[in-house]
Amino acid sequence: MKAILALPSGGFGVTDTPPPALGPGDILLEMRASGLCGTDLAKLSQPRGPATVRLGHEFAGVVRAVGPGVTRFVPGDRVTAAHHVPCGSCWACRHGSESMCPQFKATNVDPCGFAELIRIPRLHVEHVAFRLPAAMTCEEASFTEPLACAVRGVERSRVLPGDRIAVVGAGGMGLLIAQVLLARGTDPIVLDIAETRLALARELGVPTVANPAAGIRKTLEDLTDGAGVDGVVLTVVNAGLLQEAQRAIRAGGRINVFADVADEPRLALDFSDLYHRELTVVSTYSSTPATLAQAFELLAERRVRVAPLISHRLPLDAFDEGVRLQREGLATKVVYHP
Ligand SMILES: [Zn+2]
Ligand SMILES: [Zn+2]
Repeated sequence: MKAILALPSGGFGVTDTPPPALGPGDILLEMRASGLCGTDLAKLSQPRGPATVRLGHEFAGVVRAVGPGVTRFVPGDRVTAAHHVPCGSCWACRHGSESMCPQFKATNVDPCGFAELIRIPRLHVEHVAFRLPAAMTCEEASFTEPLACAVRGVERSRVLPGDRIAVVGAGGMGLLIAQVLLARGTDPIVLDIAETRLALARELGVPTVANPAAGIRKTLEDLTDGAGVDGVVLTVVNAGLLQEAQRAIRAGGRINVFADVADEPRLALDFSDLYHRELTVVSTYSSTPATLAQAFELLAERRVRVAPLISHRLPLDAFDEGVRLQREGLATKVVYHP
């Protein structure tokens, strides 16, 4: 079968590999849709050793076979699953940082999410796998994991209905976060310098979008009658954006760092301002079983629309083409098909 794995010559590409063998509790999924994530691009540019890097974690498909003892699923079911499972009982799990659980990153699907056949291990089958309702497509279901990250980001921003939250960046993640904010009764303001992305945000129901050409602070001040926004979610992070975000936020507000830093990892914050105005800086890394369930429900109830985010559909054979489109900012979301 085909899978995107490390090549002997270096890098990653289409390889022919034997289908994974099933153990007790596992299921074997025929991949039907698998989304390319920004973290896949990061893994591709900084491989930490090909053996440990697995690409693809936003997938859905049809169950081909189940291992001994599986009762939740049968062949023919359409299923989506996440790639990591926290233990639920360690310090990190008990404190709401499940993505920092030592078990979290030690778990994964086999051989990866960009494969014709994917083995979903027992732990995943038990804790982070969902059967699709008839009306949900595999493409839609493949957004469960990224949408769960968006749900978790909104939770960590501690929003209340009516809050005005700026979402910086209207890429795939920004548009998911904005829709979760809408579903929670808050008032997102989506900022981006690309008019096409702002148009897509409007199409998805975001009432306020803006091109912050005049600066984020000035733009948000004008949009909030000088009050400042109640929170900012940064889906793009660099020194200038962080400084602007700090100045655009009201006293007591939260800055949510939702992405890796684009340039230098060390950025400056005005700590005197942070103290005197009691600002909070939080970050959001990945999803949890609870937010996966919430995301799946949002998709099933059609309260979040994801199909308009898909800009490119490609076969696994055109893996590199999808990576190029995403890297060059030409794609909102690339979804691969076998
Ligand atoms: Zn992802
Ligand atoms: Zn844990």
